[in-house]
Amino acid sequence: MTDCDYCGSEVEAHDPVFVQEGTDREERGAFCNYACLASYIDDEGLTTGNACEWSPS
Ligand SMILES: [Zn+2]
Repeated sequence: MTDCDYCGSEVEAHDPVFVQEGTDREERGAFCNYACLASYIDDEGLTTGNACEWSPS
């Protein structure tokens, strides 16, 4: 069983999305679905000042 990194539910009960960070295969995030992943990114502010190229004009 794997818990969602965002809401803590078991991802197997949903349509899980796994995220690998960097090239280390051990570093992996698990989310119920894209909605949890998107919410996690928003809540953590992961895109703030971190986007490749994004200008809010
Ligand atoms: Zn979740």
